[in-house]
Amino acid sequence: LEKFKKDCKKNKIGIMGGTFDPIHYAHLATAEFIRDKYKLDKIIFIPSGKPPHKLGNITDKYDRYNMVNLATSSNDDFLVWDIEIKREEKTYTVDTLRYLKKAYNNIDIFFITGADAICDIETWKNVEENFKLATFIAATRPGISLLRAQEKIEKLKNKYNAKIISVYVPSLDISSTYIRGQLKENKSIRYLVPEYVENYISRNSLYKNE
Ligand code: ATP
Ligand code: MG
Repeated sequence: LEKFKKDCKKNKIGIMGGTFDPIHYAHLATAEFIRDKYKLDKIIFIPSGKPPHKLGNITDKYDRYNMVNLATSSNDDFLVWDIEIKREEKTYTVDTLRYLKKAYNNIDIFFITGADAICDIETWKNVEENFKLATFIAATRPGISLLRAQEKIEKLKNKYNAKIISVYVPSLDISSTYIRGQLKENKSIRYLVPEYVENYISRNSLYKNE
């Protein structure tokens, strides 16, 4: 962790939270695009343990965590943290942001979300505090109306005095839901996820019968 602090010369980090069930190229491309655009020191991927908003069956957290590690290992600017994986209780973004701010008091946090996630943000725990702790970056996502997202963002900015930046990200129309669907029907997911992830999925027979 001391090394991490040293590596963060600009004290600017991005956080990419998600269920990552499984991680795919749109997650990676979005994170890289934002890192480069805002000259962030690092992007920390934080797979959620028990996401409060996702009911249904989700894949074992260690499998999801392993896949995020495999997908990001070739990029020194991408880190994976297991703070939410380790927690037994439901996990909330606000707890993670609080923890980070406390551990590294002078750090600027950029929380990256897709335009869909920003539209749901008022359902998150302690909305207002989240906005105090981080700048939110809302990345465009195919299938999510930009107009609707932008209206929502304006409202959030006014209501919570939130820092939200809406960013056009040249993006891929991929979702984990789509990938799970392909796998369920024994269809190819090649070039949608990194090869290591694809191999991990087949070796562990994930997403077979949901
Ligand atoms: P699911 O279909 O299971 O919801 P997902 O593909 O949306 O999976 P998540 O783990 O829910 O993946 O998303 C993590 C974060 O990545 C969210 O902020 C989400 O908006 C963002 N994200 C996911 N896919 C894309 C994409 N294609 N373009 C931009 N952002 C994305
Ligand atoms: Mg999602």
